[in-house]
This record gives sequence, structure tokens and C-alpha cells, in this order.
Amino acid sequence: EQARENRSNPLFFSHYDQAPILERYALLTRLRQALDDHSLDIFLQPKVELETGLLAGFEALVRWPQADGSYIRPDQFIPIAEHGGLIGELDLQVLDKTLQTIQLLQEQGIHTPVAFNASPLDLFEPSHFETMLRMISDSGINPTLLELEVTESRAMEEYDMISERLQQLMDMGVGVSIDDFGTGYSSLGHITHLAASTLKIDRSFVFRMEESTDAVHVVDMILRLSRRFSFKVVAEGVETDTQRKLLLELGCSIGQGYLFSPPLPVNDAVDWALHHSS
Ligand code: C2E
Ligand code: MG
Ligand code: MG
Ligand code: MG
Repeated sequence: EQARENRSNPLFFSHYDQAPILERYALLTRLRQALDDHSLDIFLQPKVELETGLLAGFEALVRWPQADGSYIRPDQFIPIAEHGGLIGELDLQVLDKTLQTIQLLQEQGIHTPVAFNASPLDLFEPSHFETMLRMISDSGINPTLLELEVTESRAMEEYDMISERLQQLMDMGVGVSIDDFGTGYSSLGHITHLAASTLKIDRSFVFRMEESTDAVHVVDMILRLSRRFSFKVVAEGVETDTQRKLLLELGCSIGQGYLFSPPLPVNDAVDWALHHSS
């Protein structure tokens, strides 16, 4: 009944169409405020040795705290930030928190790399990229304790433009990970000259491994290619012990996922690290 009324009422229909746009605009306005207030947080998710469960690194993931104590997840606001021109500033604030966190971990005796996620847009804008480099060198941290993760599919669209910048980061000692590897189209052709140290196997493949031999073959092939071209590999989204064992059998030694730990507030991550270090 409701549906029929909507269809026969053009005014209602167009209002309904616009609602998501208005919602997006409201979110963008609130996000602008959150950036002005520096109120975004990071959570840290451990990367672990699949054999031992010991800490192999952390990934910083942005969280947007709300007045009611809940958090908005990045999937709900990163695309809005990208379209609304706020992603550069957001990523720099996350980088700043990541550098502070590396410092904090060092003070606790935890010397492990911490990754931050960068939008490919960060790498296009020259002044923005310069700011990133300056923040890293001004922080005084050992650059080998920092990693940048950039999504493969989008990184590939303008690959020539950004590969030079990724290489510049690697020359400084910063690690570069290709995130969600395997979901882009041009990955196999590009693998020979990727400016990256690590490939992160997308969790959609890890998720399907238990039920699909095709998914196992894809993971196996990514691992073989990685060995051939000397990339480190991290498996994303490891949720079960069966997946962990399968990955180990295929020769993957590092993973990340709910089986080991969800992303944690920084203080909890420090505790986790102290209990999972050799
Ligand atoms: P990502 O970099 O691929 O991060 C992995 C996502 O998978 C995270 O979601 C993490 O919480 C989730 N995850 C981890 N282990 C598991 C698991 O075992 N099972 C399942 N189902 N999920 C798992 P999150 O934190 O919501 O982040 C989503 C995406 O948002 C990230 O994907 C990244 O692309 C983007 N993102 C996060 N923080 C930032 C940031 O500071 N800047 C930018 N530009 N993007 C960010
Ligand atoms: Mg990532
Ligand atoms: Mg990923
Ligand atoms: Mg992802």
C-alpha cells in the first residue's frame, strides 16, 4: 500500500530520493566539525605470526566517536570524506595519531611496525604528500616502524602517478602494503613492478577458502607470485582456526583477523602487545 502511494505521488517520491543526499550532507558537516575538534580516534588491530600467535605489527583504523559512546565505522564515512574533500585532512590526523602511538609503544618497549591507511587521493596531491613526508621526518621515529596501506584497486587506476611516491616512501624506509590485494583487475600484470613491500590478501578470499577450492587456488597463486617477486604477505580477515591452518599450509606466515583480536583501543592494544611478544 505504502509503495503504491509513493509511486503515485511524485512529490513524495522525489523527497524520498533526496533523503540520502541530505543525510550525506549532514554527515559531512559533522565530520568537518570532528576534524576541527581533532576528535577522531584510532583503534589498533594486531597482525600476528600464524604459527605462534605472536605480535607481528599493528594497523591503525580510524574510529569516529559519537556523543552516545558508540563509534561510526570508517566504511560509513570514508567515501563521504573522499567525495567531500576531507579525506586528505582525515588521513593526516590519523597519521599524526599513528606516529604518536609508535612513540608510546616504544616507551613501553614494544618495537613493532604500525600501519596507517592512505587514500590514493593523498598520494596525488603534491602539497599533501609533502606534508606527509615532513610529518614523518619531524616525528623523529624510525621510518621502518611505519607502514602505509593503500587499496590495490584504486591505487592501480593511476598507478604511474603514485608508484613514484610509494617508492619514495620505501626509499625512506617506510613499509608499503597493497591493501585488499586480489580484488583489483590489473593486479597480475602489475605485480612485477609494484612499488610495495607487502601484499594483504583480501579477506573475501580468506573467508571463502573453507568452502571453495577455487578460493584456495587464488590464495595459493597469490602466495606463489609473492614468493617469486619477494613480497611479504599478510592474510586479512582470519576468523577460524581452519583458515589459520590452511594459510600456514600454503606458506602464509602472517595474518590479521577476529581469530586473534578485533581492532582495540590503544591502551588495550598495548596490553595485548605486552602479552603477545616473545
Ligand atoms: P582495511 O584497511 O582493509 O581494514 C580491514 C577492515 O576489516 C577493518 O574494518 C577491520 O576492522 C575489519 N576486520 C578485521 N579483521 C576482521 C575479520 O576477521 N573479519 C571481518 N569481517 N572483518 C575484519 P574497518 O575498521 O571498519 O575499516 C574499513 C576500511 O576503512 C579499511 O579497510 C580501510 O580501507 C578504511 N579505513 C580505515 N581507517 C582509515 C583511515 O584512517 N584512512 C582511510 N583513508 N581509510 C581508512
Ligand atoms: Mg588496511
Ligand atoms: Mg584490507
Ligand atoms: Mg578492506
